[in-house]
Amino acid sequence: MPLPYELSLQEWVDLFQSWGEPAYRARQVWHGLYQRFYQAAGEFTDLPLALRHRLAEHFRFPPLIPLASQTSQDGQTVKTLFQLEDGQAIEAVLMRYERRRTLCISTQVGCAMGCVFCATGQMGFRRHLTAGEIVAQVMYYARQLADQGERVTNIVIMGMGEPFHNYENTMQAIDRLNDPMGYHFGERRITLSTVGLVPMIRRFTAERRQVNLAISLHAADDALRSSLMPVNRKYSLEEVLQACRDYVRETHRRVTFEWALIQGVNDTPEQARRLASLLKGLLCHVNLIPLNPTRGYSGKATTGERARAFQAILEQAGIPTTIRLRRGIEIQAGCGQLATQERLQKERA
Ligand code: SAH
Ligand code: SF4
Repeated sequence: MPLPYELSLQEWVDLFQSWGEPAYRARQVWHGLYQRFYQAAGEFTDLPLALRHRLAEHFRFPPLIPLASQTSQDGQTVKTLFQLEDGQAIEAVLMRYERRRTLCISTQVGCAMGCVFCATGQMGFRRHLTAGEIVAQVMYYARQLADQGERVTNIVIMGMGEPFHNYENTMQAIDRLNDPMGYHFGERRITLSTVGLVPMIRRFTAERRQVNLAISLHAADDALRSSLMPVNRKYSLEEVLQACRDYVRETHRRVTFEWALIQGVNDTPEQARRLASLLKGLLCHVNLIPLNPTRGYSGKATTGERARAFQAILEQAGIPTTIRLRRGIEIQAGCGQLATQERLQKERA
């Protein structure tokens, strides 16, 4: 059964017309979904009972079933594992920080890119998420927050999966979230992170979207990058950076580069200097994130001291650089880790 978030407003109107229902009923459903965040057909109390039943027969309610949830010790980060209709599982994380309520959402079950340090990459690729499944993660938390008088302030597309490998569905989900008649979530408050699929960076550039672009770099030479990220054999560092330069030139928007600092691997002064020379003159920002260790990779997180030394080299070269602390690290609030854990537990059982 499809999720109610798979349809545009026009598609709801068309569907309701085929059911012999007036257009304003479709608008009531739309309002219920995106402004009241209804998660059950029975909640649409402004619809006649028969129509509520019909909704329940044709669409999946609740759209996502939470399987497990973990909260960090400070209570600020919540990670939920959701069950999809075919039994697959994905996760989405809510991070509270001062006034920010940032959601990290998934775009695929698993990932085909195989980055060696990444829990999702270690799972391999299962399938793409539909646009509705991507939207549903946001609506789940929008509902939770609304019950506490709060709202989502930012969305990062940095959960499981490579969004540019699932381009159409990801963009359809963004459009749905952005719809002025619906949830109306501004593109400028969304950040999408990609491993660096060059043709899709170019397509994204051509579409002139307001969504912030982040690129996972993690290494400043091809040999090292290929050893960490197999995709680099297809799209080299230079090709990725050229696509980024073109993006900045054409959109006048800043690019964010992500760098997971792995002790003794890519946290050396030599890598920092190489990175500084690669990024010279580019409108960008670098986010340094100490590696979140995963079961399938022996690399360790950098130390605070090494991270600061790396940062200093970039800053001296005039490149704005932030060291990000992984929030909720003890609940494995990183890329694919809850889903893999759950799988391991199942396998053991
Ligand atoms: N597939 C996309 C988005 C999801 S991953 C991408 O790769 O960009 C989001 C970010 O988390 C990426 O920068 C990714 O490289 C990083 N990441 C993955 N595993 C990590 C780990 N174990 N520790 C730190 N960062 C990690
Ligand atoms: Fe996929 Fe991103 Fe993980 Fe690489 S880091 S395996 S692209 S999810």
